[in-house]
Amino acid sequence: MKNWIQPLLITIAISGGVSAWADHHWSEVSYQRIPVGDHIYALMAEGGNIAVAVGEEGTFLVDDQFAPLTKKLLWEIEQLGGGTPRFLVNTHWHYDHTGGNENLGAAGTLIVAHDNVRKLLSVDGHLSALNVAIKALGKEGLPVITFSRDTSFHINGETIRVFHVEHAHTDGDAVVHFQKANVIHAGDVWFNGFYPFIDVEHGGSLAGILAASEQIIALADEQTKIIPGHGPVGSRDELIHYRDMLSQVLTTLAALKKQGKSLEQVIAMQPIASLDAEWGDGYFSSEKWLEIIYSGLEVPR
Ligand SMILES: [Zn+2]
Repeated sequence: MKNWIQPLLITIAISGGVSAWADHHWSEVSYQRIPVGDHIYALMAEGGNIAVAVGEEGTFLVDDQFAPLTKKLLWEIEQLGGGTPRFLVNTHWHYDHTGGNENLGAAGTLIVAHDNVRKLLSVDGHLSALNVAIKALGKEGLPVITFSRDTSFHINGETIRVFHVEHAHTDGDAVVHFQKANVIHAGDVWFNGFYPFIDVEHGGSLAGILAASEQIIALADEQTKIIPGHGPVGSRDELIHYRDMLSQVLTTLAALKKQGKSLEQVIAMQPIASLDAEWGDGYFSSEKWLEIIYSGLEVPR
């Protein structure tokens, strides 16, 4: 099993009434470090991939996985020469990217995110597609600076542009571009190697995630290192390959929607079966994925 899938399955197990959480040994989890630029690393353990940049003017962090991992994360950052993050950007509101927020906020980290991330984190919520209930974060875990379109950080000689992509994975996604280093954190716009979860319930859409992929591709060149929300660090070519898959799926499903096909009919037709071998081995089988994305698909004109 791919290790980035586990937290999701654990959560599903909890909501299904099985107390797998208690049996989950956070102590056995360790971070994998991948250098992606000068003093910039991707950190991977469980949950969404993290980016960290360290330097004299402070540590800059993108996403923070789960609360029980914060200590390990801080230890890891220390090994890289950094300290408690000065800034943390949340790429979106999901619990596998924001679980460490309360710990870090309490430690003095300034949390920054899109306006809608703060809104969603402020109240108890629910992810129906995954049957997961989500508790509101305490005040210290909420973003203290929010933006509607974009913002930039000027730190350690780097310019880090953080910009919103609309109705993509959620309605509050941000992409983080380390301009000098030529590194991009795509958030959950990119699931490298498999069908992405799209949080249609909270404003995500297949068309939006496709458009956001296009935006990232336009910023990248052959040398760009792109950190996906889930899966291994990849290249522009790999993102193009993913974009092509999304585009094919959108075209196929839009045509079926236009014909007035119901979800049940679409599932029975197996319209994306040819893609399953390559993309269906991650979070979702194509059946489950179709269920998630089809209802939110807009009827093409
Ligand atoms: Zn997500």
